[in-house]
Amino acid sequence: MAYGHWLMRTAAALALVIVTTTADAETAPFDQWLDDLRKEAVGRNISAPVVDRALGGVQPIKRIIELDRRQPEFTQTFWRYLDQRVNTRRTNRGRKLVVQKQALLAPIAKKYGIPARFLVSFWGLETNFGDYTGKFPLFAALATLAHDARRADFFREQLLTALQLMQRGDVDETTKASWAGAMGNCQFIPSTYWAYAVDQDGDGKRDLWNSQGDIFASAGNFLAQSGWKAGETWGREVRLPKGFDLEAVGLETRKTVSQWQALGVRRIEGWDLPTSDIEGSIVLPAGRQGPAFLVYENFRTILKWNRSILYAVAVGHLADRIAGKGTFKTARPAKDIPLSRADMLDIQRILNTFGFDAGKPDGIAGSKTRAAIKAFQRKATLPPDGYPSFGLLERLRSAAGKGTRAR
Ligand code: CA
Repeated sequence: MAYGHWLMRTAAALALVIVTTTADAETAPFDQWLDDLRKEAVGRNISAPVVDRALGGVQPIKRIIELDRRQPEFTQTFWRYLDQRVNTRRTNRGRKLVVQKQALLAPIAKKYGIPARFLVSFWGLETNFGDYTGKFPLFAALATLAHDARRADFFREQLLTALQLMQRGDVDETTKASWAGAMGNCQFIPSTYWAYAVDQDGDGKRDLWNSQGDIFASAGNFLAQSGWKAGETWGREVRLPKGFDLEAVGLETRKTVSQWQALGVRRIEGWDLPTSDIEGSIVLPAGRQGPAFLVYENFRTILKWNRSILYAVAVGHLADRIAGKGTFKTARPAKDIPLSRADMLDIQRILNTFGFDAGKPDGIAGSKTRAAIKAFQRKATLPPDGYPSFGLLERLRSAAGKGTRAR
């Protein structure tokens, strides 16, 4: 299972504000805790027989706690992330599926304003077009994570919502999910399933495993309700002029396409951008050495599905490839060196030592770390792209009087 550096790959999980609980040292033993949860569920008008069928015999799954605690040894680079998700095989399969399923996809695409190539792209990225929908028992998985202290409140709510889904007839006690409770072909977590799943084929059940109408309509409904703008695309690879002010990079800065044109931004082929008053932002997911993208409102909508910038670029790129467009034009670095967790920890510690607040070192390049890198780069009169590159690590280590290991 692919996962972003913050958590897990649960479609649309991140549309929600995730409330992290403070670790509760007093968590009750599992059976006692489960009894208490049953009472809460019945108090929410979920019938006792449903609760008993769903939770009868449920035991915590040790493997899920291991998966939840695992920390990748290396950070993903942009190119490696992309190669794993948007390759020729997946592109070709996506193209074939768009043609094969045209009769089903066309009315759904029209109804929700989401082109078929995007619906198929999400499907491909989430589960490889339905190949991997998860093998863990849904209720045991959610109970495990709801009982565990790390994200207890969030998963308790998901578990209660899953019980409501069962009462509504969408899932049952045999339903399988990812280890983090993401379900079906588009990997909806229970709260997303509850709010957005659609019974497209009219059999009375929202079936995100076996009904392709339900699957595509549910994805379309989520995107439409999350602000997708019909008739617009996600973004495009662009060329930045020499000396482009990197302070203008980032989703916080919005300008119209025509304003970006006036600042010297061009299509990647070098031609003018279209004349347009659509607003967009420039993002540099691999830093200033990597490709630049001008991204529109629909890019922000993709981020409501999964808040990883790399994921959003992959969705847009796979949709473009399915539509016949080529690969990115920006040259790859000669050596695409991923930083190890230890490297990232070093970056954070040194930044903190120098008074640039990278937060508590955790080996993950989150927004605080990137802001601290930017602040350091400004002070050192380096181009402020906020990107944790190997070059930055070397520079920080030498500034801190530390040697750098040969690579
Ligand atoms: Ca149905």
